[in-house]
Amino acid sequence: MTPNSTALLMMNMTVCPTCGSGKIKKVQRKWIRMFQDKTYSVPRLEFHECPVCGEKVYDRDAMRKIEAHSPAFARAAPPSLRGI
Ligand SMILES: [Zn+2]
Repeated sequence: MTPNSTALLMMNMTVCPTCGSGKIKKVQRKWIRMFQDKTYSVPRLEFHECPVCGEKVYDRDAMRKIEAHSPAFARAAPPSLRGI
């Protein structure tokens, strides 16, 4: 999948890619994740969330915010850490 087609998909996110529910919607809330024993959070992150299956979909801006707050991206992470 090319970056362009991904961005297009995100902008038109009306159906959950996981369960097919049309209830997926854009939400804005504090986003918290664990990375190796450390917790990091992104305040007021906008992303799409499916209330049916819990799937979360992040657009390009959301990904950028997550990366900006993530210790995994604070420095050039070795390839072995990328898959976590
Ligand atoms: Zn779903």
